[in-house]
Amino acid sequence: MIKELYEELEAEKPLTRFGTGWMSGVLALTLAMMALFSMVSLQYAGWLSVPEIQNILGDTGQRSLVYFFVITAFLLSCISLILRQNKLFGLLANSLLMLTLLLGSMVNLGATKSNVSFGLDWFVLNLLLTGIIFIPLERLFQRRNQSVFRFEWRDDLLYFFVGSIMVQSLALLSLSPSNFILLHASLNNLQDIVVQQPFYLQLIEIMFLTDLVQYWLHRILHQVPFLWKFHAIHHSTQAMDWLAGSRMHFIEIIVLRSLTIIPMNVLGFSQTAIYTYLIIVYLYSTYLHANLKFDVEWVKPILATPRFHHWHHGIEKEAIDVNFSIHFPILDRIFGTYYMPKSKWPSAYGIKNHPIPSGYLKQFLYPFKKN
Ligand SMILES: [Zn+2]
Ligand SMILES: [Zn+2]
Repeated sequence: MIKELYEELEAEKPLTRFGTGWMSGVLALTLAMMALFSMVSLQYAGWLSVPEIQNILGDTGQRSLVYFFVITAFLLSCISLILRQNKLFGLLANSLLMLTLLLGSMVNLGATKSNVSFGLDWFVLNLLLTGIIFIPLERLFQRRNQSVFRFEWRDDLLYFFVGSIMVQSLALLSLSPSNFILLHASLNNLQDIVVQQPFYLQLIEIMFLTDLVQYWLHRILHQVPFLWKFHAIHHSTQAMDWLAGSRMHFIEIIVLRSLTIIPMNVLGFSQTAIYTYLIIVYLYSTYLHANLKFDVEWVKPILATPRFHHWHHGIEKEAIDVNFSIHFPILDRIFGTYYMPKSKWPSAYGIKNHPIPSGYLKQFLYPFKKN
């Protein structure tokens, strides 16, 4: 059944054929899955929910969201069942919805708070919000004619899932060393000056400083052969889109986040500015990888655009070791790695001869294996 499901998902390009029940079916299935995941995270809130989401939405808000998913998914599944000959999407969506309602009728099973939890609810919200922004944009302004369910989409969705559910552990990982350094260093004067600056100034400074750190770390990852094996996973993607940026080796995520966030905490930037930066960098890097053709001329010299970062992923010889920055291309200009041929895009993406295996686990183990 799983094989048939994948065949169904990859069968058609969305928006090319209305009235086949494909789109309503895919949406019904996605929302039914979100309903089930949200219900599971509600019922096991102690382990599977991020406290910040619980604080913002509250129990009622979270439950309303689940029922919104249930009702919308049910209506869409009906449309798909009527229109589509293959009833797999509709039936599967309805089965998931029944499971959701069954789980909802049970007593709360795991509300006791644990120290570290997995952000299953954050995965749902993240997928919903990022999907709502980028899927329609990519449909409207796509550079390459490419389906949402393109080559290796399952791998990248798994990366997106792991990155989302580990969000809290990653935050704790970078907070603990910062607190340790703060306890053992006397930086009070500097921190007072930093935190008293206006919010927007703090934000711009964080963006610039982290981009500078990120630039050199990124360059080192490209140049040291052992480290390259970790970063090569990110470059193994052959289809650029909003999901492609999630493909990153777990160790690289930890190193990158620690080396950028810990110094910002230590320097004394406000938590609001740091969290806002994290949201910006997340959305920005999604945008840089997206399958979007628009390239605003006046923005190009100041801020990185998709074409700028797509060249970083290009398979051409000229695309090797160029465009390392995430926000400010001026860093690449200063350090001599800027590459932007006029109006041209790379012909393909990935690493020459595509040496990286497919699959999350194989890619996780890749850097530790002798070639
Ligand atoms: Zn790179
Ligand atoms: Zn990238």
